[in-house]
Amino acid sequence: ASGYSLLRDPHYNKGLAFTEKERDAHYLRGLLPPSVISQETQVTKMIRHIRQYEVPLHKYIAMMDLQERNERLFYKLLLDHVEELLPVVYTPTVGEACQKYGSIFMHPQGLYISLKEKGRILEVLRNWPEKNIQVIVVTDGERILGLGDLGCQGMGIPVGKLSLYSALGGVRPSACLPITIDVGTNNQKLLHDELYFGLRHKRATGQEYTELLHEFMNAVKQNYGERILVQFEDFANHNAFDLLEKYRSTHLVFNDDIQGTASVVLAGVVSALKLVGGDLTDHRFLFLGAGEAGTGIAELIALETSKRTNVPLDEVRKNIWLVDSKGLIVSSRKESLQHFKKPWAHEHEPVKELVDAVKEIKPTVLIGTSGQGRTFTKDVIEAMASINEKPIILSLSNPTSQSECTAEEAYTWSQGRAIFASGSPFAPVEYDGKVFVPGQANNAYIFPGFGLGLIMSGTIRVHDDLLLAASEALASQVTQKDYDKGLIYPPFSNIRKISARIAANVAAKAYELGLATSLPQPKDLVKFAESSMYTPLYRGYR
Ligand code: NAP
Ligand code: MN
Repeated sequence: ASGYSLLRDPHYNKGLAFTEKERDAHYLRGLLPPSVISQETQVTKMIRHIRQYEVPLHKYIAMMDLQERNERLFYKLLLDHVEELLPVVYTPTVGEACQKYGSIFMHPQGLYISLKEKGRILEVLRNWPEKNIQVIVVTDGERILGLGDLGCQGMGIPVGKLSLYSALGGVRPSACLPITIDVGTNNQKLLHDELYFGLRHKRATGQEYTELLHEFMNAVKQNYGERILVQFEDFANHNAFDLLEKYRSTHLVFNDDIQGTASVVLAGVVSALKLVGGDLTDHRFLFLGAGEAGTGIAELIALETSKRTNVPLDEVRKNIWLVDSKGLIVSSRKESLQHFKKPWAHEHEPVKELVDAVKEIKPTVLIGTSGQGRTFTKDVIEAMASINEKPIILSLSNPTSQSECTAEEAYTWSQGRAIFASGSPFAPVEYDGKVFVPGQANNAYIFPGFGLGLIMSGTIRVHDDLLLAASEALASQVTQKDYDKGLIYPPFSNIRKISARIAANVAAKAYELGLATSLPQPKDLVKFAESSMYTPLYRGYR
């Protein structure tokens, strides 16, 4: 290849880091200014550049631009400054990026499969330049974070998630494929926006939708084989549960909103108990929001509790209550309930308001998964604080604008007694002379390591026990030092080590269950996970 094309290929480009010898051997003389600098120095230069931008969206654009220019530098930068840059490439900034995707769109970063491609999806997959794909993250854009239907502009989500697969989990970037399925959008604003680049009609539903998804799932398996991991992301709940149910026995599928969230929140709850005392059975849970995240978490907590105590699942579920947009879910309204809510419809008088549900149910743990900002009001937090010495309050809705409460509200209204974590990050809060560091119940703790564990063991189906294994590995990475700070998750700065532990624990469980096909089983799975990881250091070119 010519030197010129080398500089323009993001997989190979090293910019000023090309050595003198490489510049001679690859026709790069004169195409670069004379100085040679190290990747280390480039990282320093880039982080300064990113910090110059005050608007988060500008930081996002700069990051995406770097990813398109110099992939290894992008990943090295992201990994070296993970706590600072995660909120840029992921929640909350990725939410704003999706909302404005039409106007900031520069390069198609993934594959777009719309109704126009019906009958030809296999061909479309073959147009993607990389052949050895290991993970697909796919969305249909109907429920992007807590922001609703963003149609084709949802592409920012699979792109962001997959860059975390590589940065945090060490899956090779070239093995990752972001896909957006476009069946239309019900977002009126987008339908009338001249910059909108998706199909300009209402969402297809019913058979038309089901058939497109079915063709997609079959094409994926036909093209990439049995071991391809398909992560469903940000589908609306009226499709998400059904898709997962339909394909979990024939494909390697994983829904991050239902299962990944469940695994990360279970880990947080288990480690919060170290601060609060008691076992899972001693606690009572109340959720605001009974969709994918809420019922997914509830189910995994119940499963873990049941396994630990040998109490039947149905019995355990009675300690877990959910509130949806109509109030507390109770058995008297069973008829009109979506199927995923039915296990949680317990015997009780109807209760409309969250604050009254808190007073009635007296939960020790309150979890927000409603997508509605500011719903944990002063009354609600005060009620939690009057019932509990240390109320556990998780405000999970993303992005920051949709968070059920802020960290400051949680600490202030509970007089500094709350154990708090949120979906989008909050800065530390000073209250009564003490500094509180809120944790982030971020799915990025789990899915990269979880995916790596599946890939490295050649696992062909996701079983709930694998989610429990991931959760257990994450909880075990929280140290006394973290607990002393009130943290229920470990710091992100150790994420590669955490991901390796998660991958190893997931793989071990998969081997145990006979779901892993890469044989023989490696002796030391943690070492194996670490050695399987992609490192973004530059390679030398002869
Ligand atoms: P979803 O399936 O659409 O569920 C939303 C639920 O909230 C529904 O049950 C809905 O009630 C309920 N709800 C809506 N408005 C409400 C209100 N005013 N009062 C009470 N309940 C209300 O969405 P999801 O996938 O679960 O996601 C929900 C939120 O969680 C999103 O903001 C997402 O970003 C966030 N999330 C965070 C994490 C994380 O932090 N790790 C992970 C996943 C998701 P109806 O059923 O009655 O409509
Ligand atoms: Mn999601």
